[in-house]
Amino acid sequence: MSNKSIVVTDPIYDYILSASLREPEVLKLLREETARHTHSNMQIAPEQGQFMALLVELIGAKKILEVGVFTGYSSTSLALALPSDGHITACDISEEFTAVARRYWAQAGVSDKIDLRLGPALDTLDSLIAEGRSGSFDLAFIDADKANYDGYYERALDLLRVGGLLLVDNVLWNGKVVEDSAFDDADTAAIRALNEKIHADPRVTISLLPVADGLTLALKR
Ligand code: SAM
Ligand code: CA
Repeated sequence: MSNKSIVVTDPIYDYILSASLREPEVLKLLREETARHTHSNMQIAPEQGQFMALLVELIGAKKILEVGVFTGYSSTSLALALPSDGHITACDISEEFTAVARRYWAQAGVSDKIDLRLGPALDTLDSLIAEGRSGSFDLAFIDADKANYDGYYERALDLLRVGGLLLVDNVLWNGKVVEDSAFDDADTAAIRALNEKIHADPRVTISLLPVADGLTLALKR
């Protein structure tokens, strides 16, 4: 026993999956297809998808914002957890990646729930704010290019309702966030800076969870 989070070795990880993963067949197929993709490591982990789906149920989310779709594992997980009148506004810049997502949204029967906005996500989020959508989303998931994380955080916070939940992915960045001098690339610096900002941000109640590559939960006050 320890009062620290456990180090998840490969056997422990396998155990977590075998003891708790309830992955719908469509998500399994999507994960297998994505595993053959050059950028397969961009997909969230399956147990993270299941956790975020639980959060959707827990807070009774109906309106979700996603920044970073890729082949659609997270959006499909979230969409399957939404009620029939639930909706996701999904942002990505890649027609090619999201073509795969569209196929799986159709297969999962959730296409009608997802509004895909192709283009730079900062512009899309600014458009949503200009459309009067501030304060209207229940949950937001940020998982696109790390250099823009601060911009996504600020805009997503604006778009969330009070009591809405912001999820920020890759906040541990494979451990690089702790190695000050060894990793001084722009992405690592952006994640570190946002982590520090969120830590001190009185606008949110927070928890940084060592789930997959690190997931921060920030509840808008
Ligand atoms: N959430 C996804 C999943 O579960 O599979 C993974 C998202 S992947 C880490 C990041 C995505 O952000 C890529 O699909 C990429 O095309 C997209 N992206 C990168 N820069 C972007 C930008 N400026 N605006 C919108 N999307 C962008
Ligand atoms: Ca990610």
